[in-house]
Amino acid sequence: MNLQQLVRKNVWNMKAYSSARDEFKGEASVFLDANENPLNDKYNRYPDPLQWALKEKISKVKDIQPEKIFLGNGSDEPIDLVIRIFCEPRIDNIVAIDPTYGMYQVCADVNDVEYRKVLLNSNFDLDAGTLLEKTNENTKLIFLCSPNNPTGNLLNRKEIEKVLNSFSGIVIVDEAYIDFASEKTWLNDLEKYPNLIVLQTFSKAWGLAAVRLGMAFASPEIIKLFNKVKYPYNVNILTQNFVKGELDKLELRKEWIQILLKGRDFLNEELIKLPFVEKIYPTDSNFILVRVTDANGLYKHLADKGVIVRNRNSVSLCAGCLRITVGTDEENKILIETLRNI
Ligand code: PMP
Repeated sequence: MNLQQLVRKNVWNMKAYSSARDEFKGEASVFLDANENPLNDKYNRYPDPLQWALKEKISKVKDIQPEKIFLGNGSDEPIDLVIRIFCEPRIDNIVAIDPTYGMYQVCADVNDVEYRKVLLNSNFDLDAGTLLEKTNENTKLIFLCSPNNPTGNLLNRKEIEKVLNSFSGIVIVDEAYIDFASEKTWLNDLEKYPNLIVLQTFSKAWGLAAVRLGMAFASPEIIKLFNKVKYPYNVNILTQNFVKGELDKLELRKEWIQILLKGRDFLNEELIKLPFVEKIYPTDSNFILVRVTDANGLYKHLADKGVIVRNRNSVSLCAGCLRITVGTDEENKILIETLRNI
């Protein structure tokens, strides 16, 4: 892979913004360089633009070098940035599976980049050959989401491997739900595939959606490009400090995952007993895609009772489907009771 050939010329040639304090790395007692207000003794200083202390901690938990980590305002930020780094508006294109997470297309549209969808098969499996047929010399990115949202399943590893081996552009594997999955992450394959970017997030298994912290893992050369185009202080100090503390709670997180997986089993067992449930799709995520006889009617009935699920009736291959997130034991029981009492 020739990275320079893939990257937009303006991004490759530009100089990154030099943040306040970039030029000074050591200890100092008087900071008069960043036009901050010295009268406040808390939160008055700009945070570390590259979040090194937080990256060091994530690096230990994930067993990956800090130079291979980009941190953003949710994983939505690197989804947008990767398009801005690699895709020339109105010239280049992106290929992605369909159905999948909606922000890939939104970010492509915002950036005026053609977005080509490749339907999964009826089991929501990926066929690498069909996907690769949609690429051409202007395809810079392929988005794969595994486990996939809204279908819940992991994409077949061998098919992802075929894509990584055959495609000369960048392959993004979005692993937002990987902590709930029965297979391992692609993080250990970054050395093998220099064109791979893995996305993960603190919003799901870590239970920190409100804090807004997402991760992109890639070669140091790709991470440098992310750092070049991001806003200087994209992760605020409250988020940096808070997540540093949360990273010490590894045991609690493992317990949460076990509780949610049990909740998922409970929902799987109970939902299938309901007369209007036609199919429950296998899931490796913290949600379940369910096909019912009347998705719109059921969605409305639940909403009227104060139970909100996601209506996916109008999404490709998901006609008749509701997407249900695993809740607490109590929430799961309320959902099932509300459905039984129809
Ligand atoms: N990827 C996938 C597959 C998602 O489902 C989501 C959120 N629903 C995200 C990325 C974005 O998550 P966040 O910005 O909270 O990290």
